[in-house]
Amino acid sequence: MKTYDDLHVVFESLKIAGIMSIEGDICCRTCLHSAGDMICHETEAIGFAGYHIQDVTHCHESNILSIRYHAHEDDDGAATIGRMVADMLDVHGFDVVWDGDPDKVIEVHNVDLTAFPIDDLDEVTELFRGDGKVDPPLRLVQ
Ligand SMILES: [Zn+2]
Repeated sequence: MKTYDDLHVVFESLKIAGIMSIEGDICCRTCLHSAGDMICHETEAIGFAGYHIQDVTHCHESNILSIRYHAHEDDDGAATIGRMVADMLDVHGFDVVWDGDPDKVIEVHNVDLTAFPIDDLDEVTELFRGDGKVDPPLRLVQ
């Protein structure tokens, strides 16, 4: 079974390849993609990959983690980003389930994230305030 630390190594390697990441500390899919867009905009990234806190919770129950991704300012590039992410996971020994469809998440089926610091839910970023305005995810842009 692969761990949070193993996964972090994959994301660090992807960063070198120009793909930024968000590793769990965000509330939902909408915020993940919005934050990913902002991070790409602030950097030279070609895309981003990551997962949100609900994915972590699901993984705690199933050992299956969904990895989400997209290409910055290039919808046609999503398949390429997905392939880079899937290949990097595969190289690091993750059991990857993905058919190459850029509209589908990449699943990894051998992840134990119980070491993930999920107990500190106050650390999870929510981008959208009650009034519909967006709070800048300053903590995410490093
Ligand atoms: Zn959210």
